[in-house]
Amino acid sequence: MNTLPAADALVRRDLSRLWHPCTQMHDHRTVPMVPIARGEGAWLIGTDGRRYLDGISSWWTNLFGHANPRIAAALADQARTLEHVIFAGFTHEPAVALAEELVRVTPPGLERVFYADNGSAAIEVALKMSFHYWLNQGHGEKTRFIALTGSYHGETLGALSVSDVALYRKTYAPLLLTPILAPSPDAYEAEPGESAAAAAHRRLGELRTLLEQHAHEVCAVIVEPLVQCAGGMRMYHPDYLAGLRSLCDDFAVHFIADEIAVGFGRTGTLFACEQARITPDFMCLSKGLTGGFLPLSAVLTTTQVYEAFYAEYSAGKAFLHSHSYTGNPLACRVALETLAIFRDEPVLERNRELAAHLAHRLDALRDHPHVADVRQTGMIAAVELVADKRGRTPFPASDRRGLRVYLHGLTQGALLRPLGDVIYFMPPYVITTHEIDRLVDTAIEGIERAVTG
Ligand SMILES: *Cc1c(COP(=O)(O)O)cnc(C)c1O
Repeated sequence: MNTLPAADALVRRDLSRLWHPCTQMHDHRTVPMVPIARGEGAWLIGTDGRRYLDGISSWWTNLFGHANPRIAAALADQARTLEHVIFAGFTHEPAVALAEELVRVTPPGLERVFYADNGSAAIEVALKMSFHYWLNQGHGEKTRFIALTGSYHGETLGALSVSDVALYRKTYAPLLLTPILAPSPDAYEAEPGESAAAAAHRRLGELRTLLEQHAHEVCAVIVEPLVQCAGGMRMYHPDYLAGLRSLCDDFAVHFIADEIAVGFGRTGTLFACEQARITPDFMCLSKGLTGGFLPLSAVLTTTQVYEAFYAEYSAGKAFLHSHSYTGNPLACRVALETLAIFRDEPVLERNRELAAHLAHRLDALRDHPHVADVRQTGMIAAVELVADKRGRTPFPASDRRGLRVYLHGLTQGALLRPLGDVIYFMPPYVITTHEIDRLVDTAIEGIERAVTG
């Protein structure tokens, strides 16, 4: 029972030919490669029959369960009808209907939809569109972006440029644009006794100072609303988003909301921006957009932005960014079905109950001598492991304590994939309270093992 999956033929073939993302392949001399045959609800089922509870929604993509029958049926139907068509000069029902639905469900004022095929590509689109908007307005001097410390917006060169997670960025820094970094409103970094709201307001003051110095050369401020996910599930107060909206207006810079991870109900509302009652100039969506079925992303923007590009061909103002699979009908149809589930089922209400259960179960860790913080925003919860609780001293990164929790999870049939020493829970919305109990029990055992020795 407490052993790791046996290397089977599939794993041997994989390791002799493939190169996996976010992986030092050498690790697989000791870390098992897990061969998966199929999925069902919140579970992944291995080729050897072992079952893994997917505590992280397979990299934050899955919402309504693996191989969800309703989404699978829509996909099969679309595959028999129209699999793909060039999206320049041609259009199709799934792309149009999805754009209409996205405009309907996102904050008021976002009225144009541009498709791409993954999260990083959506960020590239938003950065280029913001720059190009200002250029078309006669402000070609605006060429820079403001990003938050600890932010993550993807790993293509533009998206990585506005990211601040050293693990991904450091090596490639010589290739990147240099953003202006504003201090994150991260509540974990608040001063002793300072509330999350007070920390947000203090950070807004610092951002105002940066804008006073740099607004003339800045296209946009880009943020992950409410939760900086890849940066360690760091969370902040919605007041920061409201303050950012008015600063962007005051200083004539765009507000890019990267809701790629937090969109589609993760934070308790359909979109995180709703909690600050604001509309950004650009909203980037991906991951949950297709319920975890297919790669697709969308950038929503305002009529004002759209109109700055709309001119006679000879004016040379058109937005140029194209991917072969832009607006793929299969992906659009699957996204429409995902949004239909939100319409037909009380998803957000159910999530509130699941989130409350998760919070209740994680309370047990608050007094743990190696837990500095237990934080949660809706269906994202995180536990920060440290060497010393009072000084919040991290374990040496080389200890790889989080990896021990991951390995323990695998032996117990749970997929928990910590970010460094941050153990987090971001399950599919179809998880049950009983399954949450299982996940949390496994995490607690894993933490006990990881912090000793
Ligand atoms: C995952 C992620 C991205 C990048 O999306 P990919 O599809 O992995 O390229 C961008 N921003 C945020 C906030 C993300 O979590």
